[in-house]
Amino acid sequence: MKSVILQPLGLVSQDLLFDLKTYLIKVIDVDVYIANKSIEIPRAAFNPVRGQYNSTYILNYLKVSSSHLPYDKVIGIADIDAYVEGLNFVFGEAELGGRVGVVYLGRLRSEFYGGEEDYELLLIRTLKEVLHELGHTFGLLHCANRRCVMTFSNSIFDTDYKEANFCKECSKRLSARGVIVLDPID
Ligand SMILES: [Zn+2]
Ligand SMILES: [Zn+2]
Repeated sequence: MKSVILQPLGLVSQDLLFDLKTYLIKVIDVDVYIANKSIEIPRAAFNPVRGQYNSTYILNYLKVSSSHLPYDKVIGIADIDAYVEGLNFVFGEAELGGRVGVVYLGRLRSEFYGGEEDYELLLIRTLKEVLHELGHTFGLLHCANRRCVMTFSNSIFDTDYKEANFCKECSKRLSARGVIVLDPID
């Protein structure tokens, strides 16, 4: 079975990581681990002009910092707002067909949009983005099925619309790479 480690970057709620693990293994047949030590977010990743973190910098940093870890995939979780060049923001980023991905909680929080704090909503949104970035690390591209977790999220509405699950087409591609989707959607 493929192994995945959830790696907090900076301060991340332990409850969230444990709940993510619980849900992840209900969707895909992988071994999920939670790093017991957080990796510090490099200061150089912060862009003071934009007031955001450079995601690509963080992804590369995570790749180097986690290269010794004995897991197939490493998914970083950071409670910040991040961007990549050419985009206003990203919910996450991953190496296509690589080993590492990262998910950012900043814009998955209801508070960002002026709402009340909502843990369950944050959890399900984070689960979707973790599944999405994991999919990229297994070589999956964006999916045209708007309900599939591999669809591109342009906004939080897209994230909320898609399900925390893979479509049958994406599931086939995943199974060719050794990951079984337990109950794919149509
Ligand atoms: Zn994507
Ligand atoms: Zn799909």
